[in-house]
Amino acid sequence: MTNGSDKLANIETVVDEKVIDGKSIARQIRKSVKEEIAVFKNEHGFVPGLAVVIVGEDAASQKYVKSKKRACKRLGIYSEEYALDENISQRELLELINKINSDPKIHGLLVQRPLPSSIDTELVTEAILPSKDVDCFHSSNLGHLLIGDGKVFSCTPLGIIRLLENIDYKFSGKKAVVVGRSNIVGKPIALMLLQKNCTVTVCHSRTADLENEVKQADLVIAAVGRPQMIKGSWLKPGCCVIDVGINATDTGLVGDVDYESAKTVAARITPVPGGVGPMTIAMLMENTLALAKEFAKRKEM
Ligand code: NDP
Repeated sequence: MTNGSDKLANIETVVDEKVIDGKSIARQIRKSVKEEIAVFKNEHGFVPGLAVVIVGEDAASQKYVKSKKRACKRLGIYSEEYALDENISQRELLELINKINSDPKIHGLLVQRPLPSSIDTELVTEAILPSKDVDCFHSSNLGHLLIGDGKVFSCTPLGIIRLLENIDYKFSGKKAVVVGRSNIVGKPIALMLLQKNCTVTVCHSRTADLENEVKQADLVIAAVGRPQMIKGSWLKPGCCVIDVGINATDTGLVGDVDYESAKTVAARITPVPGGVGPMTIAMLMENTLALAKEFAKRKEM
């Protein structure tokens, strides 16, 4: 016999079958990273270390940095935070990066974006040692991604791949359309899907007929930064939709996909919030552990 709340739970399970629950997948990943870190510590006598550098008072950046710090603490990662005044000179910032580069306690280093306009973001990115580039933004690591022999992958694209792996998505031969060509999301995820044997089309603001491109996709990755731009009527029935967008609106956070209409057409879809977002920090933790493992290997050689 089932009571009322059991029935409700069953209905919710049915309704949510389409939804890719990034929160719960990220939780499972954090749990297994935590277990791996405990084993790593036993084997090597030290824990993975992450340094986060933040420049200025950007509220969203401060919130992200706080979450990163909290995640490190929970998983057993040693962390250092450098909160710098927004008027810091480029030279001072580069000196700090050099210092962290040579700190053996730190295996992953990230500089929170956006940086103030007085700082050259590319120069800063290139100053991070590729072996500590936990965000995989350095040109050397992006080159490895292009060649297909990368050791570390950008957190958000890696989070997308893990979400899809988690639902046992069959990549090979699928037509993937990536909307957005940024260096941190669009381009790396396109390369990673290519590596997984998808046929990949990358769209951007000059794409002639975006709706028609999206309509042909088995897999849609939306990384645009335009609230609810991609409508359900643009989608191929039964496709899979990964919405990377995070857009603040008067009614709260929304993605780049019009979730309600898309959900009626797609077979699987990520919500916003609760889809790709939680995966990004989980992947940062996974990357920190991966870089610490590489460090341990080099040390023992
Ligand atoms: P960028 O602004 O760097 O890139 C946006 C891309 O979208 C560009 O390539 C741009 O084209 C394209 N674009 C803009 N307008 C259109 C249009 N009308 N039609 C087609 N393409 C268009 O953004 P990011 O890649 O950094 O981020 C994208 C979204 O993902 C944002 O909402 C961001 O907040 C979110 N995000 C979420 C993360 C998470 O953890 N969930 C992490 C990182 C980002 P063009 O190159 O021609 O200008």
